[in-house]
Amino acid sequence: MTILGKKDDCELKVYDRLFIGGEWVEPSTGNRFESPNPATGEPWAVVAESREEDIDRAVRAARKAFDNGPWQTMAASERGRILRRLGDLILKHSDRLAKLETTDNGKAIRETGGVELPAIAQWYYYFAGLAETIEGKTIPVNNDLHVHTMREPVGVCGCILPWNSPLLMAAFKLAPALAAGNTVVLKPSEHTPVTALELGHIIKEAGFPPGVVNIVPGFGTGAGKALAQHPLIDKITFTGGTETGKQIAHYAADGVKRVSLELGGKSPNIIFDDYDVEEAVTGAMAGIFVAAGQTCVAGSRLFVHDRIYDEFLDLLVKRTQQIRVGNPLDLETQMGAQTCNSQLEKIKEMVQSGIDQGACLMTGGKPPENAEIASGYFFLPTVFSGLKTEMRIAQEEIFGPVVSVFRFSGEDELIEKANDVKYGLAAGVWTRDIKRALRISRRLKAGSVWINCYRKINWAVPFGGFKMSGYGRENGREVLDLYTQTKSVWVDISEDYSDPYRS
Ligand code: NAD
Repeated sequence: MTILGKKDDCELKVYDRLFIGGEWVEPSTGNRFESPNPATGEPWAVVAESREEDIDRAVRAARKAFDNGPWQTMAASERGRILRRLGDLILKHSDRLAKLETTDNGKAIRETGGVELPAIAQWYYYFAGLAETIEGKTIPVNNDLHVHTMREPVGVCGCILPWNSPLLMAAFKLAPALAAGNTVVLKPSEHTPVTALELGHIIKEAGFPPGVVNIVPGFGTGAGKALAQHPLIDKITFTGGTETGKQIAHYAADGVKRVSLELGGKSPNIIFDDYDVEEAVTGAMAGIFVAAGQTCVAGSRLFVHDRIYDEFLDLLVKRTQQIRVGNPLDLETQMGAQTCNSQLEKIKEMVQSGIDQGACLMTGGKPPENAEIASGYFFLPTVFSGLKTEMRIAQEEIFGPVVSVFRFSGEDELIEKANDVKYGLAAGVWTRDIKRALRISRRLKAGSVWINCYRKINWAVPFGGFKMSGYGRENGREVLDLYTQTKSVWVDISEDYSDPYRS
């Protein structure tokens, strides 16, 4: 990495190579693209762009490393050791990585540095430990046969990432795929390519054999599509929007590839009247406004019991107005920027549709007026009330800091409304009544249900969606099923081999 001269008064960082086969190589076309800093709207980095030819090169490097290399055949404990080293190096570089992530992505440094980077290392540690536990079974078919199964890696995995939490999403995929002995081609989002390339340096330092991890930034319809369609890819793991996920599923079907999809959400966060209102408001705010609303699990639909609705809404609006929106690199900042301009425009359009369809805008609904951040992609945390469930802002994922508040009284009516979206990623329930909490959690159509908390994610706990939020689970032991395949081995141990052709 070198730092170029000045452009528009900005020093541009240059990442002019792709990470393929353990080397930093020029992209085939020599093309580069700019990555804007969301806090300023100005480009801050230029990045090598992968095209079809580069994807082919990366997939072939991964294929070679899988078929001929030592990665899948080395002792699982050795794979674990290298993964653990990767975790250590991520921690060692965490301050620098957090700053880069925040600069490329716009998320407040108190989130990237304070929470995400330390957690990311744990993904590598956890799966390093699990590497040695991948094992088969012996199946007692009958006395003449010894049958055992083996869990083998699936091969070359194509990992396609979104922009909201680039290094965390990379860990969700790399840690289990590598622990199981697969090799990987990783394509970060075109909106946040920088930290994936930084990760390439760390991967090299950690001692992964060449070709085990390949990193190829580029655009969705170019690099992403070429990766998902490549005939030498065995599995695609994708996190991103539902419409893109459908495309990927089509590509995977054409190539009979394994696929797992982590897609969008429109998650309900339900507050009963027996819960402390102040605490519930805090939980609701953290559920929607963290990462400036750009989380797939965002609790974007709040259902508040009739008896506390007015008190809750007043406090929610008051506290939302106190959130400090600003420079994401400032430790005092509580909400950073949207990652890209197109996302900011989408939020504005969705907010306008809410107003046009008759929802009541309680606060926010526009970019902040602070001149210091006027050129960045900022949007004020926004609260709507008075919605009808059929409105667009009540149904469609906004992926921004916009929450809709609904009133409810009865449980049946609540469940019907809470489940009345095409997504099913997550849900929250706030109540002191344990029977009610568990009853409701059974009826919610969601891959994760949080009771008296929200947005808890852990390397050891399966995570994924129901309905249009996708399929396949990431994290926990369960994800290893997606990165391994079963081989059944039959051994005849009888004295007499039966000959079907004996006369
Ligand atoms: P996106 O679908 O636009 O892009 C995701 C990735 O797919 C990018 O790397 C992009 O380059 C690539 N891509 C785009 N078109 C492609 C194509 N035709 N073929 C192959 N690759 C293609 O999503 P995004 O806007 O980056 O991310 C936001 C979305 O991701 C939201 O809907 C959010 O809910 C979802 N998300 C889900 C989870 C989860 O775990 N469920 C986590 C984070 C984000």
